[in-house]
Amino acid sequence: LVMPLGQALNAYAQLQTGLGALQRIEEVLDLPSETAADRPARPTAVISEPAVVFENVTFGYPGGEPVLRDVSFSVPAGSRVALVGPSGAGKSTVLALIERFYEVTSGTIRVGGADVRDLPRDALRRTLGYVEQEAPVLAGTLRDNLLLTAPGTDSARLLAALDEVNLGALATRTPAGLDVQVGEGGVLLSGGERQRLAIARTLLADAPILLLDEPTSNLDARNEAALREAIAAASFQRTLIVVAHRLSTVVDSDRIVVVEAGRVVATGTHRELLDTSPLYRELAAHQLLVS
Ligand code: ADP
Ligand code: MG
Repeated sequence: LVMPLGQALNAYAQLQTGLGALQRIEEVLDLPSETAADRPARPTAVISEPAVVFENVTFGYPGGEPVLRDVSFSVPAGSRVALVGPSGAGKSTVLALIERFYEVTSGTIRVGGADVRDLPRDALRRTLGYVEQEAPVLAGTLRDNLLLTAPGTDSARLLAALDEVNLGALATRTPAGLDVQVGEGGVLLSGGERQRLAIARTLLADAPILLLDEPTSNLDARNEAALREAIAAASFQRTLIVVAHRLSTVVDSDRIVVVEAGRVVATGTHRELLDTSPLYRELAAHQLLVS
């Protein structure tokens, strides 16, 4: 699996620093200039820089008190990092800032090595896939919902994406197949199925970094197992940052960032945090189903 968008982004970051020198060389050699998009992608599977870095980030919503204070953490490329903490701690805000829905008050957020403020919005959008906590499903067909992020994708690929998130049955349950209505009068979706449909949609967009705000709703055992598998599929050869509410999601992570009242209070693996973080121990004891 190649990730041309991540590579393009990385190339863009390098281009920023190398641009002056490049321009001088081109003047000397009198070569036609080449944009980042023209360059062949390097054949590497993952972005080599840490995928996402927060450096001393402080942020308050417009007109409000800071909700994140001096937050620093790093997400290695290709890893799965879980954000955990009580309700209102600032976990969803962290994802919103990576998406650059808001500007930080101070500090820096880097994606693929570049300050998000220096990245064109469309480059950022292609690099990040975002699955909201309450994932919206359009009125319309299963196909409409999947094509939202990947217009023109053929049926075979759509069905494969549904299979990856354990929703293949939705497309075979009625004779309409992928053209079944997902709302009233069609296949009705449970909360867990809606979330997985949103994950399938994001997989089709093929962004190298996924941001996933896990649903808090109680899922039955079957839906929970299906979500766990969907998350595993989503993290395959990608970087995944997940706001996690389920112990099963958290223990499988490479790194866990514990957030409390807008601050990072601990970072480590599940095992490490059980030893070092009283808050994490408490969250784990409650199966992390806190927000
Ligand atoms: P979590 O996801 O950890 O539950 P959030 O990031 O949603 O926490 O919220 C952190 C804080 O920011 C909370 O105090 C919340 O009320 C506040 N907040 C969240 N979204 C907004 C918003 N759009 N405008 C103003 N305040 C917000
Ligand atoms: Mg939240």
